[in-house]
Amino acid sequence: MYPQQFEYVRPSSVDEAIGILASNPDAKVLAGGHSLIPAMKLRLAAPGTVVDIGKIDGLAGIDSRGGAKIGAMTTYAAIVDSDKLGDFPMLTEATKQVGDPSVRNRGTIGGSMAHNDPAADLTAVMLALNASVTAKGKGGEREVAVDDLFVGLLTTSLAEDEIITSVNIPNDFANAKQAYVKHAHPASGYAVVGVAVAVTEKDGKVESARIGVTGAPEHAKRATSAEAALTGKTLDAETIAAAAALAADDLGELNGDVYASPEYRAHLVRVLTKRALTQAAGL
Ligand SMILES: Cc1cc2nc3c(=O)[nH]c(=O)nc-3n(C[C@H](O)[C@H](O)[C@H](O)COP(=O)(O)OP(=O)(O)OC[C@H]3O[C@@H](n4cnc5c(N)ncnc54)[C@H](O)[C@@H]3O)c2cc1C
Repeated sequence: MYPQQFEYVRPSSVDEAIGILASNPDAKVLAGGHSLIPAMKLRLAAPGTVVDIGKIDGLAGIDSRGGAKIGAMTTYAAIVDSDKLGDFPMLTEATKQVGDPSVRNRGTIGGSMAHNDPAADLTAVMLALNASVTAKGKGGEREVAVDDLFVGLLTTSLAEDEIITSVNIPNDFANAKQAYVKHAHPASGYAVVGVAVAVTEKDGKVESARIGVTGAPEHAKRATSAEAALTGKTLDAETIAAAAALAADDLGELNGDVYASPEYRAHLVRVLTKRALTQAAGL
C-alpha cells in the first residue's frame, strides 16, 4: 500500500528540526525509517510532514568516555562494529540479534528508543544498563531515564517537539556480569521474549541487579521482584532459580498472539531470565 501524501523536509540542524516539529503538530521524525515507513505504508501512521534527521551533523557516533554516549542516529551496524563498547558486551550481542543486515544497516538506536516497540531488543538492554536519553525540544534539553521513557504501547514520555539526540549508558554496569537472551519470532526475528540482565557484586554478593524484559509486556519493563531476590545474595544456581521464578510477576498484562499466548510468554520470561542470569554468572 502507498502512504498518504506528506511533505518531506530535511533540516540541517537539530534546532531547525525542532522548529519544524513545533510548528507542525502532525509532523514525525524520520530516522532509519524501518518502523515509520512500514507504518505509513500500512496507513497506521499518516504524518503530514516527515522530518528526515539523517543529514544532521553530530547525531551519529559513539563516545565511550565515562560509560557510553551513543548518538541517536547511530545505526545498529555501527554499534556491532564499534570497538568502543567493550564494557557493555551485552549491547553488542543484543544488537547483532536485531532483524537482519538491512534492518541493522538503516535502523538507529534513537529510533528504537523513540518507537518503543513492545518486541524491540535494545529497550530491554537499556533498562538493564540503567541508561537514559538526551531529548531536545522547544523547552530546552533534558535527560530522561529509560525507566521513565517507556510509558505505554508504542508510547514514550517525549513531547511532540522533542528529538532524542543521544542514548547514554552510565558506568554503573560497565564490565558487570551481563547477558541478553532472546526467543526470536521465527518469521520476523523480533523478540517474542527477550531478557537483559546486568549484575554487579561486592564481597561475593550481588550489590545491584537490573533485569529488562521485552516482548512479553506492553512495553519493555523491569522485573523488579526478581532483581530484589538477587540483591545481597551469592549469584549461584539456587539464587538464580529463585529470582527467575519471580521474573514475570511485575510485568502487568502480557501480550498474546497466534504464536505465543500470555501464559507461554510468562513461561518464556522465567526460562530466559534463568538462562540470562546463568550465562552472566558464567555457571
Ligand atoms: C523486517 C524488520 C525486522 C525488524 N526486527 C527487529 C528486531 O528483531 N528487533 C528490534 O529491536 N527491532 C526490529 N525492527 C525494528 C527496527 O529496529 C527499527 O529500525 C527501529 O524500531 C526504529 O528505528 P528507525 O531508526 O528505523 O526509526 P524510524 O522508523 O525512522 O522511526 C521510528 C519512530 O521513532 C521516531 N524517531 C526516530 N528517531 C527519533 C529521534 N531521534 N527522536 C525522536 N523520535 C524519533 C519516529 O518519528 C517514529 O515515530 C525490525 C524492523 C523491520 C522492518
